[in-house]
Amino acid sequence: MITICIPCGYIYDGELAFERLPQDWCCPDCGASINCFDTIDPSLPEKKSKIDYGVMTLEKIEKT
Ligand SMILES: [Zn+2]
Repeated sequence: MITICIPCGYIYDGELAFERLPQDWCCPDCGASINCFDTIDPSLPEKKSKIDYGVMTLEKIEKT
């Protein structure tokens, strides 16, 4: 599972579990609030195509 910022496509990959982040945490990339993040499973193809804004970043992650 990955947690992605919907407005900008930033993927959270911090050491702390996303659920444990403080409610006032925001995206380091665009400053969107924590509520703007969504958790997706990149192994589900239907959801992957649905969230097309994150495809480029997802492909980058799969290589690592
Ligand atoms: Zn963002």
